[in-house]
Amino acid sequence: MEGPLPDVERLKAGLAETVDRLAEELWGLALRIHASPELAYREAKAAAWLAELLEAHGLRVERGAGGLATAFRAEVPGARSGPTVAILAEYDALPGIGHACGHNIIAAAAAGAGAALAAALPGRPPAGRVVVIGTPAEEGGAGKVRLMEAGVFRDVDAAMMIHPRSSTQLWRPSLGLAACKVEYFGKAAHAAPWQGVNALNAMIGLFNAADAMRQQLRPDARVHGIITVGGEKANIIPEYTAAEFYLRALDKGYLEELRRRFEAAAEGAATATGCRVRVAFDPVIHDPLKPNHAMLDLFGKNLGRIGFAVDAEDTEAGYGSTDAGNVSQALPTIHPYIRTAPDGVPAHSRGFVEAARSPLARAGMVAAAKALAMTALDLLADPEALGAAKAEFARTR
Ligand SMILES: [Zn+2]
Ligand SMILES: [Zn+2]
Repeated sequence: MEGPLPDVERLKAGLAETVDRLAEELWGLALRIHASPELAYREAKAAAWLAELLEAHGLRVERGAGGLATAFRAEVPGARSGPTVAILAEYDALPGIGHACGHNIIAAAAAGAGAALAAALPGRPPAGRVVVIGTPAEEGGAGKVRLMEAGVFRDVDAAMMIHPRSSTQLWRPSLGLAACKVEYFGKAAHAAPWQGVNALNAMIGLFNAADAMRQQLRPDARVHGIITVGGEKANIIPEYTAAEFYLRALDKGYLEELRRRFEAAAEGAATATGCRVRVAFDPVIHDPLKPNHAMLDLFGKNLGRIGFAVDAEDTEAGYGSTDAGNVSQALPTIHPYIRTAPDGVPAHSRGFVEAARSPLARAGMVAAAKALAMTALDLLADPEALGAAKAEFARTR
């Protein structure tokens, strides 16, 4: 005969039941966010809907957290003081294509975990608190970096979020990312082209130099750009051109080397054409994700507990970048991937947009909300679990 379930196991069963009970409401929220895609720092509707849902389920919500209009911080207090575990929500979309990164599912899963914990925790043992932090502008705006700078993560002991994918995987690296704007200044000429200095030639020279460099880069490194200003008219020598480039690598040291080589190439193209160049790097560098296997282990066990399968490593696919990397360099953080799309459908594609409102995404959202809530509970209920996560953070780079 089975004995009574220990308290944590009983609470976990309650969390799973609560998420199931909320599933329809959470899915409605995910679909609403999907249908009204909002770009970085303009996620007014999504932030408001999330705050309303969390408030309705008993969380105390601070809107505009860290001075960012579309950020929020919602709190589930425990029975007594103790550590703080954060669950992160993203909800921005991509220009032109909508929710091609599935952030509607990140948002609904985080809200579901927060709401379930609010229903299960008050007046019960685990000490400390859970906060759901609404983090705007993951796609290029580095909202989490601004929230950290504003002190929103100051008291957070551990953070977790999920990200949609075409497979469920606990750990995948993310690349460090440095973004820059390159401008070439030449001289316009119309009737006498030999008097002109061609800023488009310089820009094409830089793209060719970047292509040539690529062959000698480490396989994890990425250099890619677009021309944003290429000239005015075919019969005028372009006097001004501009481009946007991303440089990426698995570690910060190699990213720095990449940056030096790219700047030298940009200057080389200026010298070759007689132009002046300006290379302006975005002050915010996206850091690579630092793993925390102690926490990933808990999350994986909780997925197992609810019978949600983890897929095998797919070594074919490339890596992205995320501002969660910066959080992971500051405190123990996990960023597991949850299946919301069929095999092989890449993020940032039209197929991924469709998948983000499919039954697969709904199942992923429900599983993720449960596993996030259970993992937060593990960390608060067992000081040794949080201690192990912190010890791993301290001893790894
Ligand atoms: Zn994305
Ligand atoms: Zn994303």
